[in-house]
Amino acid sequence: MARFIFITGGVVSSLGKGLMAASLAALLQARGYKVRIRKFDPYLNVDPGTMSPYQHGEVYVTDDGAETDLDLGHYERFTGVPSRQSDNVTSGRIYQTIIQKERRGDYLGATVQVIPHVTDAIKEFARADTDGLDFVLCEIGGTVGDIESLPFMEAIRQLRNDLGRGNSIFVHLTLVPYIAAAGELKTKPTQHSVRDLTSLGIQPDVLVCRCDRPLPEGERAKIALFCNVPTEAVIPALDASSIYGVPLQYHEEGLDEAVLSAFGIEAKDEPDLTRWTEIMDRLENPEGEVTIGVVGKYVGLLDAYKSLHEALVHGGIANRVKVNIRWIDAELFEQEEGGIAAQLEPMHAILVPGGFGERGSEGKIAAVRFARERKVPYFGICLGMQMACIEGARNTAGIAAASTTEFGPTDEPVVGMITEWMSEDGLQKREAGGDLGGTMRLGAYDAKLSGNSHAASIYGTTDISERHRHRYEVNVHYRESLERGGLVFSGMSPDGELPEVVERPEHPWFVGVQFHPELKSKPFDPHPLFASFIAAALQQSRLV
Ligand code: GLN
Repeated sequence: MARFIFITGGVVSSLGKGLMAASLAALLQARGYKVRIRKFDPYLNVDPGTMSPYQHGEVYVTDDGAETDLDLGHYERFTGVPSRQSDNVTSGRIYQTIIQKERRGDYLGATVQVIPHVTDAIKEFARADTDGLDFVLCEIGGTVGDIESLPFMEAIRQLRNDLGRGNSIFVHLTLVPYIAAAGELKTKPTQHSVRDLTSLGIQPDVLVCRCDRPLPEGERAKIALFCNVPTEAVIPALDASSIYGVPLQYHEEGLDEAVLSAFGIEAKDEPDLTRWTEIMDRLENPEGEVTIGVVGKYVGLLDAYKSLHEALVHGGIANRVKVNIRWIDAELFEQEEGGIAAQLEPMHAILVPGGFGERGSEGKIAAVRFARERKVPYFGICLGMQMACIEGARNTAGIAAASTTEFGPTDEPVVGMITEWMSEDGLQKREAGGDLGGTMRLGAYDAKLSGNSHAASIYGTTDISERHRHRYEVNVHYRESLERGGLVFSGMSPDGELPEVVERPEHPWFVGVQFHPELKSKPFDPHPLFASFIAAALQQSRLV
């Protein structure tokens, strides 16, 4: 049976609970254990699919088409274990299931209550699909003391008994702030946070203490004493120079040993951390650097493009170069007459990422044009591919009115809404103006690349599977005109209906993809498109 590690956070949010969970899982994996990480989100949205990226960062999409919290991206990037729908649940989804059951009469006249019905549903979710695993790490979103997270706290408290003592532990992440006036790190917030937890019946086994300077032994012992844990189980967690240094740092501080020891497991051998030392060596000793201009809409919040940011870093790891990213607000940029070239000229490559809505689109189209005409490497992802097709239609195929139906009615729908397509689950239908939640082409789909294409040479194969999240598609009826203008459709859905990859053979590096390759990139296995894009940027940097 799998052992469970429940991870909670205290004092303040944004301490890096997701990264901690991901790093701990990576350390256990490095010791040969099979792991899976899950996230409980206490908010009432059924999934984050309808939330603005400004609210909650990017929406991470799994192979099985779930729209999930961005922490699942960290989990995959650190462990390589593909996440599934069953790895992320929200209060909204739990309540939706319960209310549906209640309406059907499944509760046979019982009064439906938070305890036991909501807590049972949470427990069921935690335990489902865990065969063959050594450890299941469950991260509880939010901070101890939130009203919303109470049912989750109660469920994990009960699980400790249900699973049998010794089969689960609680890890609590807290803050130990430095108070300048006193010149000291303060342990009181941690003591309060642990007191809150124990009042819910949860005694943490391991405390991970975020601090901005080394935690003196005296303070460590004090936390151990007041919070009722062994001193070795108080793990200092200082800021790292790169998130990929976090597993190594946690190992140094003894996190994996403390966790194993809380389960009564003796840590005999050292974990194999070569994967992480190699990554850090490449990050810390780069041989060159490139600057990439990302022309997007949600540039005010880095988390909105989390996976993209990481995939670009992975491309740098693959080439042993430092990647500087310039986030350019497409909307501001399009208002700057003549300023577009001035802003893009210093860039070694240009990327237009995924996005929704018309705002900033003319700026994105102008960026595509600049990259095409100046022969600067261009990578268009999802909306970025659609913009490349509209730019190609307008400026190289003579279709001046080319647009997308996403921006309103158009006579030349080079990009349009597809209302029917086949998936593994049969015929899928969408209605214009239908519900926005869960109504996109979501998850992994196969695509076929033309044998002689740039894309096929980058992938080293013609059969690929990538993750999607979009409502609109490039209209295959425009293929001939666009190809005459030099924009070749080099990847299609297996039935030949949906364009998946476009490229310009006459250009050093110009690729648009309808999917999101950034979702599958890992620091130890950089996505081939990002590795190749950064290599092209490096080439370009030698020209300018
Ligand atoms: N807005 C576009 C669509 O829905 C692109 C989406 C995206 O870039 N993820 O098709």
